[in-house]
Amino acid sequence: MKKRILITGAAGFLGSHLCERFLKEGYEVIGMDNLITGNLRNIEDFFKDANFEFYHHDVSTFVHVPGELDYILHFASPASPIDYLKIPIQTLKVGSLGTHNLLGLAKAKNARMLIASTSEVYGDPTVHPQTEEYWGNVNPIGPRGVYDEAKRFQEAMTMAYHTYHGLETRIVRIFNTYGPKMRLNDGRALPAFVGQALRGEDITVFGDGSQTRSFCYVDDLVEGIYRLLLSNYNMPVNIGNPDEISIADFAEEIVKLTGTKSKVIYKDLPVDDPKQRQPDITKAKEILGWEPKIKRSEGLKKTLDYFKSLPQDELFKKELSFGN
Ligand code: UDP
Repeated sequence: MKKRILITGAAGFLGSHLCERFLKEGYEVIGMDNLITGNLRNIEDFFKDANFEFYHHDVSTFVHVPGELDYILHFASPASPIDYLKIPIQTLKVGSLGTHNLLGLAKAKNARMLIASTSEVYGDPTVHPQTEEYWGNVNPIGPRGVYDEAKRFQEAMTMAYHTYHGLETRIVRIFNTYGPKMRLNDGRALPAFVGQALRGEDITVFGDGSQTRSFCYVDDLVEGIYRLLLSNYNMPVNIGNPDEISIADFAEEIVKLTGTKSKVIYKDLPVDDPKQRQPDITKAKEILGWEPKIKRSEGLKKTLDYFKSLPQDELFKKELSFGN
């Protein structure tokens, strides 16, 4: 019997890569998305696969899926600071109400549920690198609060369903991830820098660029999530690439990679922008036998090729568009 999996946020960056992986593994995949920030282009190739179905639905309202389900992956959520500013209420609802609906569905179907949590639960961390035991340093009412607190609530709700209802749950804390199918205009550092470089515009580093991030290529992340889902570990696990870099150096890497004549300029640092971020992946190594394999130089090249393959008008569409 084929295993049947529901993936929310299916038309988004991570959701679409997960759909692809589980189809390859021979699962029946139901993709669900309300297409606010997702794009059907990310999953159009899957529609010809008899094992793929798509439901256009907002998981913040009651979720109905006929038939059996073995697994649920909850990856629906806006995930960039610009999105949080534009759609703060939807961001809160999908992490809270959406998670509750899906936990209810998982319980009714006796399915195992994996939720996409985030390094943002650590906020602007005072512990470095971040281990799963660290409780975080989050401003609940800052611009990122709508995302960070929804994700913290999501973890709490998921643990409650695990302890109270005995539901099989998995929690992945995802650190900065990049790769093909990222939204070009979502305001995140990588697509912003690449877009600016390809358009020949100045590259905007926020603050003095000394803040750090650690970027993981999407295929590595998907492998980690796949292993976590099939493991028997129900506590949170960090998945990310510990290769840490300052944003100023990262911008220089993009300049070199693209060969642009653009220069790097400095702008104000956004409120509550974390100063440093690097995953401690000891748990992932020990429990899942996982560690990232793809170097940034290799991953960035693949990502650049993807952005270059997009229609030119998209490259120049700087307006943020929701629903594409
Ligand atoms: N950033 C930047 N210029 C941009 C977009 C982002 O310098 O045009 C910075 C941002 O302030 C942050 C880092 O790059 O310090 C990573 O930002 P991103 O939005 O990609 O991820 P997050 O802050 O959520 O980790």
